[in-house]
Amino acid sequence: MPTKTPITVAHGDGIGPEIMNATLQILEAAGAALDIETIEIGEKVYLRGNSAGIEPSSWKSLLRTKVFLKAPITTPQGGGFKSLNVTTRKTLGQYANVRPCVSYHPFVDTKHPNMDVVIVRENEEDLYAGIEYQLTPEVTSCIKLISRPGSEKIIRYAFEYARLHNRKKVTCFMKDNIMKMTDGLFHRVFDEIAALYPEIQKEVWIVDIGAAKMADTPEAFDVIVMPNLYGDILSDVAAQIAGSVGLAGSANIGEACAMFEAIHGSAPRRAGQNLANPSGLLLGAVLMLVHINQAEVAGRVHNAWLRTIEDGVHTYDIFTDGVSTQKVGTREFAAAVIARMGQKPNRLKAVTYVQRPEGAASVTGERPGGPSHTPAMELKGIDVFVYWPSRNPNQLAEAVGGLAGEGLRLQMIDNRGVKVWPAGMAETFCTDSFRCRFMSETPTPMGRLIEVVKRISDAGIDIALTQSLRTFDGQNGFTLAQGQ
Ligand code: NAD
Repeated sequence: MPTKTPITVAHGDGIGPEIMNATLQILEAAGAALDIETIEIGEKVYLRGNSAGIEPSSWKSLLRTKVFLKAPITTPQGGGFKSLNVTTRKTLGQYANVRPCVSYHPFVDTKHPNMDVVIVRENEEDLYAGIEYQLTPEVTSCIKLISRPGSEKIIRYAFEYARLHNRKKVTCFMKDNIMKMTDGLFHRVFDEIAALYPEIQKEVWIVDIGAAKMADTPEAFDVIVMPNLYGDILSDVAAQIAGSVGLAGSANIGEACAMFEAIHGSAPRRAGQNLANPSGLLLGAVLMLVHINQAEVAGRVHNAWLRTIEDGVHTYDIFTDGVSTQKVGTREFAAAVIARMGQKPNRLKAVTYVQRPEGAASVTGERPGGPSHTPAMELKGIDVFVYWPSRNPNQLAEAVGGLAGEGLRLQMIDNRGVKVWPAGMAETFCTDSFRCRFMSETPTPMGRLIEVVKRISDAGIDIALTQSLRTFDGQNGFTLAQGQ
């Protein structure tokens, strides 16, 4: 008897308990060696007054087993309840969201019969860092954070995933024609890491045209890696166009704990009626079996499931007259998969998962070690964002131009990134929030920049935000305004 792997299981809300029971029965019949700890999460925990939807004691289980198989939960309506998924991802450092999007033509209706794409989405950074401000009565901002270590982890993960699963190509989606610093860094790191995997093809697309291509011709892609926001949107698009939102599973990978689930929600209206399709959670569990290195069991479950789909044994959500042969409930579907254990599909492509050598870690994006190069930094100026309700940039330049002080000068003023002084265009629409850029030819002490800020404040001008301007190894660590 193989050693059992400890995992934590949560049965969730709505259809959660039914699809989890079906999944666990199938895993058991396939011979999965699991030592299951059960925790309670979701609606009941929220309504007991725990705003995170998870008890403190449950974190201990997750950190002990490091593997979490989670059924969908219901987040109660009304304010104050935090998304459990976001809490789990952030608390446990789950940096990679992996979502295979596969079509099962002709057995499940799809526009794209040959789609087999894996979306690898960065999960912790980007606009999802949640750092937002209201700067002035008219203007709000959200800070987009992309870090070198964050990008390295997710991109290395994508290539390691491709290598393990014998995928041929990794494509990067980003938009560095506009976001030169943030998406530019993601692109650079992609190029650096891709060079370490010469056997895997690499490709880079600007996300807008890349997304259009993916929606039109998904068979042109294999593994696609992208920053958080693009990944959030496009992983849903990819699952939808595969024709199989109810059939997709996903993994959230972090070194402290990895979480596996279906991509759909708790479908409360379908709960308790033996109607729900357990396939999404089951395919999430297959990702888990691969992660915990029970590759053979993963293959057995996945192939029996493919055979069931191919035999036309379908739950209501994918039932199609003329294609499906039997409309079944959750329990009967599980029984049909169990009855096909050991079988392979005839027309759909059978899967094979590779067992890693004993002791070899699962796919990881962690860097093998060694410090990275720390660039030489020089302070060159400061951007001061101010509230200027008259919206007249020339008057603002008059008010702050003389406040620069020794060695600094007011270089430009912009509004939402468009230069409006000197020599702005009268047609440029201005809000009440302006950025004044003070620059020095030579490196400047921080104290001198703080004095500029103080003089502006003493002049009665409302300061919303300041940002130091630096060079890194002589390269500007800031972009120029439009028209500058
Ligand atoms: P949903 O995914 O629960 O349901 C959308 C539609 O798909 C419904 O018509 C539903 O009946 C159907 N459906 C979903 N899963 C199905 C399955 N396995 N078999 C058959 N039909 C299925 O989305 P929703 O209705 O917007 O959300 C319901 C609840 O789920 C909300 O409380 C939401 O917060 C929560 N939710 C949880 C998760 C999660 O835990 N990961 C994800 C999304 C939504």
